[in-house]
Order: sequence, then structure tokens, then C-alpha cells
Amino acid sequence: MQIGVPAEIYPGEARVAATPETVKKLVAGGRHTVIIQSGAGERAAIRDIDYEAAGARIVPTAGDAYQSDIVLKVRRPEPPELPLVRKGSLLVGLLSPHESLDGLVATGAMAFAMELLPRISRAQAMDVLSSQANIAGYKAVLVAAYHYGRFMPMLMTAAGTVKVARVLVLGAGVAGLQAVATAKRLGAVIEVFDVRPAVKEQVESLGAKFVEVALSEAELKAQESAGGYAREMSDDYKQRQAALIQERAKAADIVITTALIPGRPAPRLVTEDTVAAMKPGSVVVDLAVKQGGNCAFSVADEVVVKNGVKIVAPSSLPAQMAADSSALYARNLLNFVNLLFDAKTGELKIDRSDEIVAGTLVCADGAPARS
Ligand code: NAD
Repeated sequence: MQIGVPAEIYPGEARVAATPETVKKLVAGGRHTVIIQSGAGERAAIRDIDYEAAGARIVPTAGDAYQSDIVLKVRRPEPPELPLVRKGSLLVGLLSPHESLDGLVATGAMAFAMELLPRISRAQAMDVLSSQANIAGYKAVLVAAYHYGRFMPMLMTAAGTVKVARVLVLGAGVAGLQAVATAKRLGAVIEVFDVRPAVKEQVESLGAKFVEVALSEAELKAQESAGGYAREMSDDYKQRQAALIQERAKAADIVITTALIPGRPAPRLVTEDTVAAMKPGSVVVDLAVKQGGNCAFSVADEVVVKNGVKIVAPSSLPAQMAADSSALYARNLLNFVNLLFDAKTGELKIDRSDEIVAGTLVCADGAPARS
């Protein structure tokens, strides 16, 4: 089959959905050919000649790449790309399935949204949310360090002692845990809050302190039964949580927020009052801005200063580390594409009863695949 990779056109998107490494694996055995739009890898430090050396053919336009049987993308096709999507082709990418899919459905393509991948162990090697969140968590700490006018580690110098930075991480999923690990490497003292008490052990094993809102028996049971994800909490819980976060944020120099509830607006954890209570010179990095933000003052891709506190809300940190984020993303996609082929015969075999296929399929034959 022919596999095509168009260049991403979304502003600021520097990632690419295939790398020379994955191209080599796709063309091995001679079952597939890969075509790449010229320049698609440029912002991820991959040249056309690198793709060619791996066995891909370079084509001049996106239209050529979209003529393929399978199209690999990072972002969902933008409106000008939709007419290029071939009816009956397979499209795989981060397709923003919680937004309207009408344009995509109308193309008649069979589309798989990688955000919907079930969090089961068989799917781990395809888990783009994890691979990209890991990068976002790392980069968030570097962004915070860049905006913070002080050292992170405690230092004893001839000119006196420098105080250690106190970092508060809100949300201890994949991004939050990587933020903890990265801040730790820079020498910070770290506190972490998450609604899921199950993450306490992981947080502590990284050398950070877990701060908790006491849960009632019923709240604890409800949280544990939410399938590993956070769920919307009661108003009473939210009040207790707000008080705790405000108290810890006051003592922090850097607050990194990563709290998300799948398919819902991000919880508002750092309120106007909390920012007003924080120390001047402190920094908030909000990773949830695309879902509305964890901080009341977050504006996507801008630095807002309130009360001397800098609030930074980058909308796509993985795109700022395009070489590694593309490498991991492309491997995730390669593993997903392999699932669509019969392991023995090598023929295309889309098993719609497979949990991973059924979970990610958003449309086929001009109709939505999900209600
Ligand atoms: P996510 O991006 O959906 O959310 C980030 C974190 O925010 C979560 O830890 C969540 O509990 C937390 N959060 C939500 N509301 C909050 C609030 N009001 N206050 C504080 N924190 C709040 O999560 P994720 O990184 O995608 O990971 C979710 C879970 O899935 C984790 O337990 C992760 O380890 C697990 N996971 C499993 C697999 C697998 O088994 N294949 C793969 C990846 C992740």
C-alpha cells in the first residue's frame, strides 16, 4: 500500500508523522511504499534526502501525499486540506475528536483519532498522548526556568547562599510526573497535588511530596472506579481543594499545571485569588490552556503578568521539541499502522471488533463511527 505524509500546515506545528527510522520499517519487506511531501520534516531537523535514503519518495505537494491509501498526520487536516483527503483512504493522527468532525466525515475517509486510544497495556507503544505529554512535562520545567529570575537549586557561593526554588505541580499524569522528574534534576524542592490518591506512591518515588485533600469514603470509591482517569469532583471537594492549592501556591516559586479531565474543560485550579496571593517573581506554566486552562489568567502562547506573577500558557510544547516529539510520535503511529495489517498474510485487515481499532475509529464511508 502507499503511505503518504503531508507537511503539517497548522501554525507553529513543527512535528512530522514519519521519520527516516519509521519509513525504513514501513518499506521493509516491500509491502508498502512511502511518499513524503517535500519539506515535511524540515522543522523536525529531517531533510528530504534523509527520507530518500530511508526508502521514501519525495513529492512536491500535499495533494500528492493525500492520494495515498494511508495518510499519516500529526494534526487533523485543516479546512484547505479537506478537499485533498481521498475518499476511502485511511487517515491516522491527532484529529481533535472532541471538536466537530463534520468536515472530516464528509471526506469519506476512514479516520482514526489517536487521542481516543484506550489506555490498555497492548496499546502502550501506540500511546501518542503519553509520548507527547512526557515531552510537554519536561519542556514545561525548562520554560518555567527560563521565565524565573532565580536559580532552581540551592547554591552556596562566595557571594552568599541562593535559596532553592519550590515547585508545585498540579496534576500527576504523564506530563506532571515528567515535570517532577525534570524539576528534581534541576535541584528544586517539589510538591504535587492530584485528585487521584493512587499517584501518591509514584510522586514520592520521584522524590517529591504529595499534598492531599482528605477524601470521604464515597469520594474515594468514586475516584477509583473512574478507570484510571480523573473525574469531575463535587463542589464541596472543589472548595477544599481550592483552599489547599492556594496555601501551597503561596509558598511556591513555580507552579506547573497539567490537570485534565478527558473530554471536559480543564479544572480551574489557580484562581485570580490564588495568583493575587502568590509571590512576585513566581511563574505559572499552564499546560491545560487548550482545554481552557488551569489558571484563570492563562492566554494561549502569551506571557501574562499579574501582580508580578508571570503566567505562561504554551499551547503545544511538543511542537517546540519537534525532533524528539516527531521521533516518538512516528513510532507510535508505526505501531498503530501495523495493527491494521494481518500479521501473517500482511494484508490490510481492519478488525473493527478490536478494542484499539474500535476506540480510535471516528468515521468511515462518510458516516461518524461514534455516537
Ligand atoms: P491527563 O492528561 O488526562 O490528566 C493529567 C492529570 O491531571 C491526571 O493525573 C489527573 O488525575 C489530574 N487531574 C484532573 N483533575 C484534577 C484536579 N482537579 N486537580 C488535580 N489534578 C487533577 O492524564 P494522563 O497523563 O493522560 O494519564 C492519566 C492516567 O492514565 C495516569 O494514571 C496514567 O498513568 C495512566 N496511563 C495509563 C496508560 C496505559 O496503561 N496504557 C498509558 C498512559 C497513561
